[in-house]
Amino acid sequence: MKAYTELAPHRNLFVEGVPMLMYHQVAPVPWKTWLPMLYVPPALFRRQLEELKQAGYVSAEPGCGDPRGGKPPLVISFDDGFSSVFENALPVLGETGFRAIQFLVPGRLGATNDWEAANVRRERLMDHGQIREWLAAGHWIGAHTLTHPRLTQLPLDKAREEIVASKKVLEDAFGVEVRHFAYPYGEWNEKIAGLVEEAGFATACTTAFGVNTATTFSFALKRVFVRYADIGWHRLKGILARRLA
Ligand SMILES: [Zn+2]
Repeated sequence: MKAYTELAPHRNLFVEGVPMLMYHQVAPVPWKTWLPMLYVPPALFRRQLEELKQAGYVSAEPGCGDPRGGKPPLVISFDDGFSSVFENALPVLGETGFRAIQFLVPGRLGATNDWEAANVRRERLMDHGQIREWLAAGHWIGAHTLTHPRLTQLPLDKAREEIVASKKVLEDAFGVEVRHFAYPYGEWNEKIAGLVEEAGFATACTTAFGVNTATTFSFALKRVFVRYADIGWHRLKGILARRLA
């Protein structure tokens, strides 16, 4: 197997910035679903992490990790806090030695992704006990608002409440500092970013494609959406190299 660090264009790309992978579910793609891109099958997830480990990558928190010299950092992030990540990704993370961050929706812990349209399959979200185990295994949690609204479509005071409460509820429940935020649906603007900063977060992630460098705005971090069931890491890195060239 050829590790992607052997590919020159890709090496340059990762010397310049820290990639942040974005996953949702680590589970088989359901037979019928409106959002198949949200699923990465467990075997593919395992292959990706094994390839990354072989290539020498180390995991970092959002906004952290210095790509110059030493081992190349990357961030592994999961949005929404699905139980499938606890069940299928947590063991693989442990075996490969990577740490990851889950962006949780504290108003829905132990419930389902009922913020999606009615035709989207309802999936179980991690409960308090699972999140405690996730933290005990050395992983991080971030906030993804209280109920997963489109922040840019809310009155500003309502948006502030969603952001501030998501941090407080998680910190009170789990006794850890929650430093990172992810915008639901990746939707943000300058005012929303200002509210996130005011709330005391250190970073916020979008769904915009790219890698993050020292000059990337901390409240608009870019990510790489790991989308399709049939995209292996090799295909993904080719897409990365082309789009960032
Ligand atoms: Zn989300």
